Amino acid sequence: MSLRGFLNMIHFILKGEMKAKEPILYPIGLVAKMFGISVATLRLYESEGLILPQKSQGQHRSFTEEDIKRIACIRSMITEKGLNLAGVRMVFSALPCWNIKNCSQEERASCPAYLDSHDPCWVAKSAESVCATEDCSKCPVYLELSECHTIKHILKKYWNPAE
Ligand code: SF4
Repeated sequence: MSLRGFLNMIHFILKGEMKAKEPILYPIGLVAKMFGISVATLRLYESEGLILPQKSQGQHRSFTEEDIKRIACIRSMITEKGLNLAGVRMVFSALPCWNIKNCSQEERASCPAYLDSHDPCWVAKSAESVCATEDCSKCPVYLELSECHTIKHILKKYWNPAE
């Protein structure tokens, strides 16, 4: 069954238990099963800064459909393109978030994601970054990179070779 077909099926099953318009959150065990990987692997992706799951008060992790698309992209970079986790992180770090968020020169000057980082901006950011207090899991920069087929398009759109 395709990923889309699986999501549709789970969506149908869970829909009855959710309030209308509430995004469906998929528990970590189910997501691990969906991809045929272990829960520990998903936790590793999180500790490597590749995914930002939602956490309940009891620290239980759950995933949105966007997260699941992102995990599918990470899996394909690893299993089809032969990247390791550092390589995937490097791909995510290439996105010029400062152009998407229109950061001023002053804001760039104090942001590690702009200055020098091999990590995605949501990992590299510091207390001095303009978005220090933002929830990165809801930021367009993080969300735009959910699907592998959009990466090249996003880079073409936002990358400025003069920088
Ligand atoms: S809010 Fe987070 S994901 Fe968005 S640009 Fe800032 S560090 Fe990056």
